[in-house]
Amino acid sequence: MNIVLFGPPGAGKGTQAKIIQEKRGLPQLSTGDMLRAAIAAGTPLGQKCKAIMDAGNLVSDEIVVGIIAERYDRPDCRKGAVFDGFPRTIPQAEALDRMLAERKRQIDLVLELKVDDAVLIRRAENRVKETLAAGGTPRADDTPETLKNRLAVYYKNTAPLLDYYRRQGKLVTVDGMAPIAEVTRAISAVIDGGARS
Ligand code: AMP
Repeated sequence: MNIVLFGPPGAGKGTQAKIIQEKRGLPQLSTGDMLRAAIAAGTPLGQKCKAIMDAGNLVSDEIVVGIIAERYDRPDCRKGAVFDGFPRTIPQAEALDRMLAERKRQIDLVLELKVDDAVLIRRAENRVKETLAAGGTPRADDTPETLKNRLAVYYKNTAPLLDYYRRQGKLVTVDGMAPIAEVTRAISAVIDGGARS
């Protein structure tokens, strides 16, 4: 089964993707994590992406489509995967559909985690505070200004994908403002029930 977890920055996609990975053995494929790993390793790809990511803008479609295709061909994805933070543009979604079709697969379900902007901003502020309190370094793109840009980029480039997947009959929306365990339960019910909006 191939699932896309969809939603604005801080909606809880990563948290829920990890839970699905643990429960169902579908690997979490997070382009954000992969790009941050490339930056931490100092690879040419990481060097190319760092400034773009720090500003909260999108790296090129070619880059993320390339890293996703490479990752998806590893053996642990033979039963499918949970896509987290990918696709983020219409061309990425089209490329993903093509890539899966070439492998006789498809996206089965797109789960939208719906969260109000005010809640997203509060969550980012809390993440920064908690990271600092634990002696860590907050993500460079969690500053209030950058978050504002990430949200603007989400509404401009990524939100149009909702229609793309609605037209394919694959979109299901879940209340992402409920407590984590409740969101998990709602997602599980959708995956097990195969319900579509
Ligand atoms: P995330 O961890 O998903 O919030 O991603 C962090 C940053 O990585 C984003 O703000 C983008 O700069 C970059 N990024 C992650 N995934 C994508 C994607 N699918 N397309 C373009 N840029 C991405």
